[in-house]
Amino acid sequence: MARTVRVNTDTCISCGLCVSLAPEVFKLVDGKSFVYNPEGAPENKIQECIAGCPVSAIHWKEDDAP
Ligand code: SF4
Repeated sequence: MARTVRVNTDTCISCGLCVSLAPEVFKLVDGKSFVYNPEGAPENKIQECIAGCPVSAIHWKEDDAP
């Protein structure tokens, strides 16, 4: 099932880890992580970012979920 990575910008503390791990997917915009290219890295790389985020601000959203 297709899924898309999302960032909760209210939770993000701007540590930059996800941007370092997957600069093809995330960039900092106004000091917060932003998903500018959800297809930019393989899922396992994005999963590393999800696991590594210190405040669990990154998550998957199933594409067919409401
Ligand atoms: S790893 Fe988490 S807290 Fe750090 S910049 Fe990315 S989303 Fe924000």
